[in-house]
Amino acid sequence: MAKVLEILKHGAQSLKEPSAFSKFDTKQDRERVQNLVEDMIVTLREAGGVGLAAPQVGVNERILLIEVDNNPRYSKMPNFELKVFVNPIIQKVSNKQGYFVEGCLSVPNEWIELKRPKWVKVSWQDQYGRPYTKKLTGVAARIFFHEYDHLEGLLISDFMEGYE
Ligand SMILES: [Zn+2]
Repeated sequence: MAKVLEILKHGAQSLKEPSAFSKFDTKQDRERVQNLVEDMIVTLREAGGVGLAAPQVGVNERILLIEVDNNPRYSKMPNFELKVFVNPIIQKVSNKQGYFVEGCLSVPNEWIELKRPKWVKVSWQDQYGRPYTKKLTGVAARIFFHEYDHLEGLLISDFMEGYE
């Protein structure tokens, strides 16, 4: 049964550390990744976010989720069906960049306008280890870059001047 996990806040150690690649070598590895992803999905929905990365629930592995389903935090955002990215690798990014105001479940009540590439070509695995390569655009690209930062130990507060 999937369970809601605690979302760690700014200052927690796992949010500051780069994460390791998830393994699919053994049955235990695969079950662990699948269970973690199930827990992350219910946690994301319970928190009302549009994305979640494993370091935010205290696991330093390269796993992130994106889902936009009529989200009240971002009322003008188009919907994006749940996608699970395990071990994402950025293949290419657009030269063109755009601005967007981002919030973060780990940095409550803070918003910052950040400039990021408009699209990204990514290779990744799903929670069963199946490989994909796809170009993400629009809101999916924006959320992807935010969540990918979490895998590198970066938070939006790192871009805010004077944020303690
Ligand atoms: Zn975040």
